[in-house]
Amino acid sequence: GEIIEFDLVETANVATTWVLRGTKREVKVTFSGEPRVMVRGRPGHIQQVVMNLVQNALDALETEEKGRIDLAASRENGFAVLRVADNGPGVPEDVRQSIFDPFFTTKDVGKGTGLGLSISHKITHEHGGDLRLCAETDGTCFQVTLPLPKDPV
Ligand code: ADP
Ligand code: MG
Repeated sequence: GEIIEFDLVETANVATTWVLRGTKREVKVTFSGEPRVMVRGRPGHIQQVVMNLVQNALDALETEEKGRIDLAASRENGFAVLRVADNGPGVPEDVRQSIFDPFFTTKDVGKGTGLGLSISHKITHEHGGDLRLCAETDGTCFQVTLPLPKDPV
């Protein structure tokens, strides 16, 4: 994939649509925040990051009656930020330091490879950004940070 300027919100929309297309579950999905946040990078890779996060959220909502996934885009401190939150059970304290490790999974054999977050973390760092848990929430919230495009010279 080429490095180009693209809209993070549109990419998140496409990624979410793809993941939801593969499920019969009823989950309420909302988008909020900025309607358009341009970033620079490989859109296909960032789409994969959002697909991994939304799939994880969906997995976490397996037993939730009123499952919700909320995506929100913003610009903060000179960075583009996308938050993907769910109202599932959350990430237990004792596994938080392991979730970005390759092959770490708490899912049953055949259900999780444990690669989604480690690959996503790698992709965001290759973009000069970051992937981490949000500071505090009920449920789970991951935040993708990406540099905003530089002003044209
Ligand atoms: P996988 O989904 O194959 O297990 P990931 O790297 O995507 O691998 O995620 C690693 C682990 O992080 C998961 O097995 C799960 O324990 C935890 N995790 C990721 N996302 C969430 C979430 N939204 N809610 C709760 N736990 C999560
Ligand atoms: Mg996963």
